Amino acid sequence: MKVAKVVVDVPVSSIDSLFDYEIPDELLSVVKPGVRVVVPFGPRKIMGFVIDITGSSEFEKLKPIHTVMDYAPVLTPELLNLSKWLQEETLCFRVSALQAMLPAVFKAKYEKEVWLLADEGELPFDWQILTQGREVFPFNELEESGIKASQISSLVSEGLIEIKYVVKGKNRVKKDTYIELALEQVKVIEVIEELGKQAKRQKQVLEYLIDTNGEIRLKQLMDDLGVTRAPIKTLEDKGIIRLVQKEVYRDPHANSNERTKPLPLTEQQQQVIEPVLSRIDENKHEMFLLHGVTGSGKTEVYLQSIDRVLQEGKEAIVLVPEISLTPQMVERFKSRFGDDVAVLHSGLSTGEKYDEWRKIHRKEVKVVVGARSAVFAPFENLGIIIIDEEHETTYKQEDYPKYHAREVAKYRGQYHKCPVILGSATPTLESYARAQKGVYQLLELSERVNEQALPHMEIVDMRKELEKGNRTMFSDPLVEKINDRIKRGEQVVLMLNRRGYSTFVMCRECGETVQCEHCDISMTYHRTNHKLKCHYCSDEKPMPNQCPKCESEAIRFFGTGTQKVEEALQQQFEHARIIRMDVDTTSRKGAHERLLKKFGNQEADILLGTQMIAKGLDFENVTLVGVIAADAILHLPDFRAAEKSFQLLTQVSGRAGRHELPGEVVVQTYTPEHYTVELAAQYDYESFFNREMQIRRRFAYPPYYFLVLINISHENHVKVVDASQRIANMLSQRLGESALLMGPSPSPMLRIKDRFRYQCMIKYKNRQDVDEPLEHVLNSFQKEMNKEELQLTVDFEPYYFM
Ligand code: ADP
Ligand code: ZN
Ligand code: ZN
Repeated sequence: MKVAKVVVDVPVSSIDSLFDYEIPDELLSVVKPGVRVVVPFGPRKIMGFVIDITGSSEFEKLKPIHTVMDYAPVLTPELLNLSKWLQEETLCFRVSALQAMLPAVFKAKYEKEVWLLADEGELPFDWQILTQGREVFPFNELEESGIKASQISSLVSEGLIEIKYVVKGKNRVKKDTYIELALEQVKVIEVIEELGKQAKRQKQVLEYLIDTNGEIRLKQLMDDLGVTRAPIKTLEDKGIIRLVQKEVYRDPHANSNERTKPLPLTEQQQQVIEPVLSRIDENKHEMFLLHGVTGSGKTEVYLQSIDRVLQEGKEAIVLVPEISLTPQMVERFKSRFGDDVAVLHSGLSTGEKYDEWRKIHRKEVKVVVGARSAVFAPFENLGIIIIDEEHETTYKQEDYPKYHAREVAKYRGQYHKCPVILGSATPTLESYARAQKGVYQLLELSERVNEQALPHMEIVDMRKELEKGNRTMFSDPLVEKINDRIKRGEQVVLMLNRRGYSTFVMCRECGETVQCEHCDISMTYHRTNHKLKCHYCSDEKPMPNQCPKCESEAIRFFGTGTQKVEEALQQQFEHARIIRMDVDTTSRKGAHERLLKKFGNQEADILLGTQMIAKGLDFENVTLVGVIAADAILHLPDFRAAEKSFQLLTQVSGRAGRHELPGEVVVQTYTPEHYTVELAAQYDYESFFNREMQIRRRFAYPPYYFLVLINISHENHVKVVDASQRIANMLSQRLGESALLMGPSPSPMLRIKDRFRYQCMIKYKNRQDVDEPLEHVLNSFQKEMNKEELQLTVDFEPYYFM
């Protein structure tokens, strides 16, 4: 008897293990590891993933698999193993890990269709009765026909048919007409010679087809030759050519025109790429950290590394943050590698994502450029993984499985024995520290390719503006410079780096903020008891009525929304044309691109936005970048606040003066003496790193310690406090030596969607010190989570503390 080991789709920890099912004879050749099946589970039938197949089971009586959902594996053996690792690494359910690797279309209930890839005549007889001349027909007809699953599966693996999901709506599979020769070339040449002078058009078409050697889209041929349908119809009637309907992939990045060639590398680029190329040649894993200032030519290094990988017949994954924001980046890969590139990002529809995934699955592409989840691309012969802007927090998934793409890349790099490149102008402290210790190999690009200077950053002290009597949001130097640009017809980007809630208080006269003495993070204001609280360690202070430092009474909450700034801006610059970009104005699909295009066409003078505008924009007419309030991010209740500010200031300044016109940056702040602001203005990453590392060491933060955050929430305030306390007690009894428990304390946003939220944080050095205690907590609270609607999540390497 053959037994399938199956992960069932029941996300409950007590049954999060493999179940044995008997494989019925008729499914023997179909059920393989990586295939999804439907299995009986109690009274129900549910989905499951086949992980392994064995010859026996320790259980007596096994239930048989009911049916299969896939006729070819959707996950590779490597990815099946990776799911196990993800489960252990992030303490998620195995089934969530498996599902995270597949496009959404596999999760929902979509209809399936059968597509004929071969001529009907090549199919077995019982198929021909079924197809009746159709190239595509609904899958349920196949199910009802009684054709055996094993036969379906073997036709799929021979490439005679394909089973596809149908995503309804305007994104249905698109077809296009192709033209091809119906005769052998020699015959066609004879025909050409026999054609008379008046058949010039027909001749042209045939010669074109011989040149292009095969098939081409009809429309393209007509465009290229400038011919009408008539000569084509004649040739078709004579049986010399034929027209065929073929599927075209929905391609959101279609019409890439010119192919670009590799540029001769600069000396620095040459030095940097060499070790990468050797690892590719030697088939050896290594983690590289490519630290290169903006404009230093990192992308060209990526492109040429991939080139080498393709020459060796292997595949490449490139991760890019929030890719829909940087179509320019995608274009660079498409124009170098053409149709070998698939693009995967969150801006695509379900159908588009499925199309791109299928190209990878069917080995029709060799390079995938995508957001976080592209790290799971089902390539089987990976030669390199690149993570651009490695410091971006979007590489960490906030839902289960709460994985970091960097760690998945490392796992896959080890498996495939290939290099992984992490690239950034402002690497995370974790990565740079690893590079200094030799865990990653550090590669440095310290100069810009065009030898242009980075734009000058001017720091404006907002306290002085207040002293002068300027009570607006805009300092005199900023106003003057904006007026100047409007006059010259140049453009301005203004950033208001507001993020989440601004719950900190600040003195407007001296810039003082209230920090926790134990944690070095801003304390947050809690309205319920009018107190300031540290949400890491739960320490409390009364809300001060005057500034503890300068005794001014101008101490209050900080933060303004983009809409308010827009109004103020319009008042100040009456005739300026302003585009506002924030969550409100960009939530509709395509809104982003539309607004940016408008700005690019110079239909506006000022682009005002949140940090979403800091990344990847490249407009040649932008010569001024303004940061309205650097403090808003500098004082987030997050130990990474300084690091994030440094990254953001560096990044946003890169938006100015990217081309001929020199750029300038104005940063407004109440704390100009803060080392983050000072060092960002000097583009001095190294010094910033050293300063910040001292603080991380003193307060026991990463990279000196690892963190894990436990979030607890419930609709009832009393219950959540009680549960949090019990969890903390349970943990403190079990945690190993290296681990420090902090909390429980209320989350900075105490209440979201009617749920009260608390958190505990553990700082630890060795993973074994926290694994058992956390699993114990999860198991012990399982019942309350099911029955009492208590929510409990565990987040390793957390980035989001709100
Ligand atoms: P980064 O990714 O480090 O910000 P880019 O790769 O975007 O830098 O490079 C900046 C500019 O320099 C781009 O316009 C790119 O085409 C150009 N560039 C990169 N490498 C070279 C080279 N070796 N020779 C000439 N131009 C280059
Ligand atoms: Zn003060
Ligand atoms: Zn504290």
